[in-house]
Amino acid sequence: MNEKLIPLSVPTLAGNEWKYVKDCLDTGWISSVGAYVTEFEKKVAEFTGAGFAVATVNGTAALHICLNMVGVGPEDHVIIPNITFVATANSVWYTGAEPILIDTNLTDWQMDLDILEKFLAEETTAKDGNLVYKKTGKVIRAIMPVHVLGNICDMDRFLAIAEKYDLVVIEDSTEALGSTYKGKHAGRFGTLGTVSFNGNKIISTGGGGMIITDNEELAKKAKHLTTTAKTDPLEYFHDQVGYNYRLVNVLAAIGVAQMEQLPEFIVRKKEVVQLYKDKLGGFADISFQEQSDDVTTNGWLFTIRTKHRPLLIQELNKRKIICRPFWTPMNQLPMHKNCHYINDHDNSSALHMSGISIPSSTSITNEEIDRVVDNIKDIIQHV
Ligand SMILES: *Cc1c(COP(=O)(O)O)cnc(C)c1O
Repeated sequence: MNEKLIPLSVPTLAGNEWKYVKDCLDTGWISSVGAYVTEFEKKVAEFTGAGFAVATVNGTAALHICLNMVGVGPEDHVIIPNITFVATANSVWYTGAEPILIDTNLTDWQMDLDILEKFLAEETTAKDGNLVYKKTGKVIRAIMPVHVLGNICDMDRFLAIAEKYDLVVIEDSTEALGSTYKGKHAGRFGTLGTVSFNGNKIISTGGGGMIITDNEELAKKAKHLTTTAKTDPLEYFHDQVGYNYRLVNVLAAIGVAQMEQLPEFIVRKKEVVQLYKDKLGGFADISFQEQSDDVTTNGWLFTIRTKHRPLLIQELNKRKIICRPFWTPMNQLPMHKNCHYINDHDNSSALHMSGISIPSSTSITNEEIDRVVDNIKDIIQHV
């Protein structure tokens, strides 16, 4: 058997990528200033409905700048879910603040709102106009929901909780380009939202990110901070410690071409999700992430749960079907393990042990989907 490898999630570069990159090379405009950056920002703002978009070097940098802009710093806490990609927690530490980890629920795999609400009611107190975590005495400055796998939690309830406790909302919507809640695009519910264009995301610039917001002042500040906080077009005068977090023009050129294809990508992703659900639903103990009728997800990376996960990971990868376990929970990573982890039953651990992401590239063929499904069934049937 010499079958072709089926990747987990790779970019589809089927549009104007070559043309626009060649344009950058031909004109020499590859670096930090150039028309494609502006065009890319405009396209993402239009697509999401956000007033403004500011391109960054990656999604992690976008998160860092968002936290920085709303004043998160040392001696603060930021609430995040315990199940997320490590960048969420890292970006909090970059500001000097310490994450508080909230367990995830086993239905939609997002931050558990019951646990969040109980935590805020019982373990925090108002002090000098701030919300303080009683155990540490530190201020809880912001909350960062993560739209895990492009799904979205009960946002109405989430926002009501955030408002009640006066928490600034910064959305880690890096996986959710193309996902909506009640028709509104992910990343547009909080003060600031973020997008990632990493290699495995729904569109990719190789590496890249964006901040989206309706607040013009914050958008201007984000541009300033991500471009070394330079205030004069000629003189090297910078008015604060800025960051070199800009996205370069040659990568934005790829981004413009990718945005042109995004609507088709989403259509295909949804087909892939439906095919997997039809073919794997009801087989053995396999279950899926549930989504509410208020949510349309971008179907970014299809992930199933089964107790056979350890064997499946090994066997599928051996059979050239590239799969990955669901993230290791933040409380199990050495640099985050001392964070306060708020939970009842440690669902995070259960999700991690049972979750497996399976090939979901936009370019995956129906035959490849069948091969993935047949192999999953074959492996589970033979345990
Ligand atoms: C991809 C991702 C990020 C970071 O984006 P990069 O562009 O890779 O820096 C942050 N949070 C989550 C949940 C992600 O999936």
